[in-house]
Amino acid sequence: MKNPVAIAVSWIGAYLVLILLPLLILLLYPPTSNEQRSFWLEFSVALGFIGLAMMAMQFALTARINRIEASYGIDLILQFHRYTSIVAFFFILAHPLILFIDNPQTLQLLNFIQAPWRARMAVIATLALVAIIVTSIWRKELKIPYEPWRTAHGILAVIAVGFGLGHALGVGNYLGLFWKGVLWTGIALIALWLLIYVRLVKPWLMLKKPYLVETVIPHQGNVWNLVLRPRGHEGIRFQPGQFAWLTLEISPFRMREHPFSIASSAENSERIEFGIKAVGDFTNTIKDVKPGTKAYLDGPYGVFTTDLYENTAGFVFIAGGIGITPIMSMLVTLAERDDERPLLLIYASKTWEDITYREELEALKNTLDLTIIHVLREPPEEWSGETGYIDKELLERYIPKRPATRNYFICAVPKMMDQVEVALHELGVPVTNIHMEHYNLV
Ligand SMILES: Cc1cc2nc3c(=O)[nH]c(=O)nc-3n(C[C@H](O)[C@H](O)[C@H](O)COP(=O)(O)OP(=O)(O)OC[C@H]3O[C@@H](n4cnc5c(N)ncnc54)[C@H](O)[C@@H]3O)c2cc1C
Repeated sequence: MKNPVAIAVSWIGAYLVLILLPLLILLLYPPTSNEQRSFWLEFSVALGFIGLAMMAMQFALTARINRIEASYGIDLILQFHRYTSIVAFFFILAHPLILFIDNPQTLQLLNFIQAPWRARMAVIATLALVAIIVTSIWRKELKIPYEPWRTAHGILAVIAVGFGLGHALGVGNYLGLFWKGVLWTGIALIALWLLIYVRLVKPWLMLKKPYLVETVIPHQGNVWNLVLRPRGHEGIRFQPGQFAWLTLEISPFRMREHPFSIASSAENSERIEFGIKAVGDFTNTIKDVKPGTKAYLDGPYGVFTTDLYENTAGFVFIAGGIGITPIMSMLVTLAERDDERPLLLIYASKTWEDITYREELEALKNTLDLTIIHVLREPPEEWSGETGYIDKELLERYIPKRPATRNYFICAVPKMMDQVEVALHELGVPVTNIHMEHYNLV
């Protein structure tokens, strides 16, 4: 199956089948006991089953499985992960709440000292889930740094799903013994495999393909280009605009990695360059990285690439600040491929001095049919170009008169991307022609 829409739809179909499978088996093989069970009891159990299956599926959604990722892009998958986790949370929470209302005697199961293990496991799983939801939605407000949050997130997820499965098996009231065994063992094994794959197999594969830092080049806008060379292998083949997770100096097993768009040409996988803006703990250290330092890459990922739109008449790029990096990769690749299509870059920066890759972009005009419009928030006095923010009026002045003939790539801070997306829609650009890369995954 080559059609990308059909592939994307079939992944959603597979997801629905997998989360509804426990319910289906429950319907096909109803409980064998003779006891009279109320509708609400059955309903609450059904919600619990679906919620647990959805939680187990989160391991697949976050395992960066290339085939799934290539259909949607990682930001969309993580958004799906966020929303489905919240839905699963409410299903799982509704499961005991309905039970307690239907049969208040079941409230005794909350007595942690006296309750049977299957109930204790449910309480632990639910508490882990509450902790996951609270720390994920309000991570920034709670001032939890990304790295410890991510470690805790993984541990809590294993507890929530592990104890949830333990609870489902412990209750044992549902499904014929055989099917119950097959189903939950299967789910547990898949979740375990995904965990092993992410924690051990992937880092091991990365360890076998190291890179060495060749040099670090300073650029305007507090940006440092980290140049890597593959050591003992050919390097990753990527499409311009894609990104990779970078680990520096430490073993990939420690999983302290950061995502960065590749800024260099996709025609040269032997010299991979990242443009990194110093904004925090990790990115502030880039300028001091010594040549010869070991690096590891997990990638490439992403669907933000001109390569997927070969038949378009031309491209419009809209960048804000460090959002220029994937666009730089697309431009240098198009230049190396002698692409002759018209290209427009609308690039927002704070000041003239802040414009990252200003000279390099200017030089690309010699090989490409490239128009560059700089938009400055704090322009110098003599500036006669565009100022302020990129809005509908500004876009209307520059984008082609028949806007649907181009594909548009936007990479900037979320607020700017949202505004530009709305403005492009209003100017008649179809939704299928607008592509965005989000730098704020979490
Ligand atoms: C697809 C993608 C491509 C990116 N490309 C570039 C690029 O080309 N150039 C560039 O300068 N920046 C890029 N970024 C942003 C870059 O990943 C963050 O600026 C960097 O990870 C911040 O780390 P820090 O420790 O220096 O800052 P911190 O102050 O620790 O973090 C600042 C914010 O960055 C995010 N962040 C921090 N650590 C991680 C992590 N390990 N994984 C994911 N997000 C994290 C969190 O939202 C955090 O609140 C990209 C992000 C994504 C998602």
